Amino acid sequence: MLNKKTVDDINVKGKRVLVRCDFNVPLQEGKITDENRIVAALPTLKKLIADGGRLILCSHLGKPKGPDPSATLAPVAERLSQHLGKPVKFMDDDAVVSDAVRAAVGAMADGDVMLLQNTRFRKEEGKNEEAFSKDLASIADLYVNDAFGSAHRAHCSTVGVTNFVETSAVGYLMEKELKFLGNAVENPVRPFVAILGGAKVSDKIPVINNLLGKVDKLIIGGGMAYTFFAAQGYGVGTSLLEEDRIEFAKEMIAKAKEKGVELLLPIDTVVAKEFARDAEHKTVPSSAIEPGWMGLDIGEKTRELFTSALSDAKTVIWNGPMGVFEFPNFAKGTLALAQKLADLNATTIIGGGDSAAAVNQLGYGDKMTHISTGGGASLEFLEGKALPGVVAVQDK
Ligand code: AMP
Repeated sequence: MLNKKTVDDINVKGKRVLVRCDFNVPLQEGKITDENRIVAALPTLKKLIADGGRLILCSHLGKPKGPDPSATLAPVAERLSQHLGKPVKFMDDDAVVSDAVRAAVGAMADGDVMLLQNTRFRKEEGKNEEAFSKDLASIADLYVNDAFGSAHRAHCSTVGVTNFVETSAVGYLMEKELKFLGNAVENPVRPFVAILGGAKVSDKIPVINNLLGKVDKLIIGGGMAYTFFAAQGYGVGTSLLEEDRIEFAKEMIAKAKEKGVELLLPIDTVVAKEFARDAEHKTVPSSAIEPGWMGLDIGEKTRELFTSALSDAKTVIWNGPMGVFEFPNFAKGTLALAQKLADLNATTIIGGGDSAAAVNQLGYGDKMTHISTGGGASLEFLEGKALPGVVAVQDK
């Protein structure tokens, strides 16, 4: 159970509250294309405003290596202001914290909201260097971390700053993410089924390893399944294959047997002539992929196998699509699982990143119990790792 201080445990009236949000939203030509992360931050912000805090918000956006106008948080300030129904003063300052920012903070009234410029404009941020951590702490009486999507990184704004403020707490989004993911992994109602897909085995090695000790069934699809095919001695044509992970796949097949975990792999696969939206394609048994063909989705028999394996599930965690869902011809496997999860009477949790995008894009977002806002963070959580951004917050 979460033993960290939360926003319900702190008194913010008249105080300067530095809130680390996850406003790392996708932008196209300066326009926000998906504002889920902004919406997800609102409960904490509304609570702190109602309690009379003076809110100084910070976040990173994208991967700038210093000041970069294309990574400005200005569009976020505008959208956020519309959602909150009040002005959000944007401090467009490459230093993020400067004398001008200090002066503006000094002039804030209770309930005011300010957004600092992208924390990655400061080179110290990614290295968790003291100078920027101290700068951030210098404008705050309290610190709240609600950025689950960045909790796996030890940066100034997620970790370093906590060393220089008196009080730190997690926000509601962080609390919710940890509750859903934590309960699912540590205290699941069984049967507990994990579905793993996506492009690469190498990205998911620690997840597979950790989950094999916890789940009742593990379903593997997507590009990573072909390395498991190779481990069984099948040819995989031009499908994604990580030769140096074949041994690992063999070990995991053995580990599943040893632990009594049912490991389900695709029994048939949709193969195509090339990686393209309208590529010529057909369905073949997993053991019969011919040279020159590449697997881009699970086949129909596998859809049946996987969906019926989910029928009695009471807790499901899903990370990674079953195929190249971006191309409609190869989205059927991912779609079938999303539909199945939507109809299940179970706790259904979707890892962030591509899985969340797939479920939302296919229209099943609101049918899931919880969609994580953090791709990398939720994966590291499933690996069983402690998240630095959570560890750094004070205990109750
Ligand atoms: P990940 O970020 O590892 O979860 O991978 C997600 C990506 O994997 C998506 O963009 C999918 O298009 C891709 N993907 C899933 N299955 C396959 C496959 N069989 N071959 C190539 N790419 C795949």
